Amino acid sequence: MSRRNGDRAALLRSLPAVDQVLQSEAAAAWLDCLPRDRVADLVREAIGELRESLLMDKPSDYRDPLRTVEAKVEGLVQRLSKSSLRPVINASGVILHTNLGRAPLGQPAVDAISSIAGGYCNLEYDTGKGQRGKRDVHCGSLLQRLLGVPALIVNNNAAAIFLVLHELVRDGEVIVSRGELVEIGDGFRIPDILEASQAQLREVGSTNRTNLGDYRNALGERTRALLRIHPSNFKQVGFTGRPTVEQLVALARSASLPLIEDLGSGCLTDELAEGIEGEPPVAQSIKAGVNLVTFSGDKLLGGPQAGILAGDADLVARIRRNPLFRALRVDKLTLAALEATLHSYLAGREDEIPALRFLRLPAQILSARAHQLSERLADHGVAGCEVIAGESLLGGGSTPMQKVPSPLVAIEGRPGLTAAALESCLRAHSPPVVVRVEKNRVLLDLRTVPESQEHELVAALLDATRQEGTGA
Ligand SMILES: *Cc1c(COP(=O)(O)O)cnc(C)c1O
Repeated sequence: MSRRNGDRAALLRSLPAVDQVLQSEAAAAWLDCLPRDRVADLVREAIGELRESLLMDKPSDYRDPLRTVEAKVEGLVQRLSKSSLRPVINASGVILHTNLGRAPLGQPAVDAISSIAGGYCNLEYDTGKGQRGKRDVHCGSLLQRLLGVPALIVNNNAAAIFLVLHELVRDGEVIVSRGELVEIGDGFRIPDILEASQAQLREVGSTNRTNLGDYRNALGERTRALLRIHPSNFKQVGFTGRPTVEQLVALARSASLPLIEDLGSGCLTDELAEGIEGEPPVAQSIKAGVNLVTFSGDKLLGGPQAGILAGDADLVARIRRNPLFRALRVDKLTLAALEATLHSYLAGREDEIPALRFLRLPAQILSARAHQLSERLADHGVAGCEVIAGESLLGGGSTPMQKVPSPLVAIEGRPGLTAAALESCLRAHSPPVVVRVEKNRVLLDLRTVPESQEHELVAALLDATRQEGTGA
């Protein structure tokens, strides 16, 4: 036997027994979190993994099998007993950050969720009549009041478009401009969703220009609808063009076909729409005569993940009867949060909606906060901090390129701690802090950090800037 294989055999023999690990000092803490049988399973799993790697890798990597097993079990116990979904501090300045859960909910929405989450509720029960009711009523009448037309709520905007096409177009054709067949992010492409609904796309125009005649020429026996899509994260400049909503409405009417518009974001107020380029308010499209609009609940609307479709009563009723509606409907927690968010709009208290509040935060307030933060860091010996002029991003699929001027705190990387290393330390903090890095500078945007989190942010920064020698 070679010396190396001898080492390996000795190590394999020295693998700890399950009971031995369970009696180790570390095990006491695991047994506080999980029942003995489950911990024993994890120990067995860890010993098995170690045995596998001993057979594959260099034995010299495994000097202390008991320690290695303990560390593996520790990781497994943490993963099983702690929530993997946890809060993060968003200092990136991206207001609707899809990876960070898009719109944070306002206090009324959070309260509404907690008031019904832990018990029974009247989700589908009419307490007046003492009989079965419909879950649609909870947000339906509020949306009707805000938009002036009936609406339905489903899981997200992708589900809303899917359902609309499945009901109105299935096996027929929907006419759509080539310039609007965008990919929204994470590999999600509008054309894929459209095709999954069994609708056939009749693509018209060219990537940069589509005119009304292109739509008109494509009308045929199999046409079931016209579709207009918000170009979302995609901005065309130069020689571009597409028909106005009004032109498409007129064409759809003359052909007795419905016009569907995927608006992406749900911009519910004119005032908000004015400040954002290319973001028509939902009501404007409806007023113009679009037969059905769809939009997200967690983009500009500032509510929970949801898809809202609204428009002509007969079409909405048809879609409501589609069996897939049942598969795409939302749960009571979503309805509670959405209802509270819609109440904020109806009451004119949009300040209760964090995404809108962040978007509207005045530069002077942010500047004062940024200087305060920068000085606090400097007082604690953090070098290379300054306040610079920068921009926050709206983010979130729709108009993600929309920028808002915002003062930023910049922390210069240095030889012992580069900006990349500082960024990674901040991410490893609990709660993790998400920042932007630009040219060896960490950029902090307080627009998306509620004041209640600022203390924690400072703690994370002081922790992270104390790390020396981690320069990547
Ligand atoms: C974001 C977006 C969608 C997808 O919305 P989800 O709510 O994420 O499903 C669809 N269409 C457009 C134009 C969008 O901007």
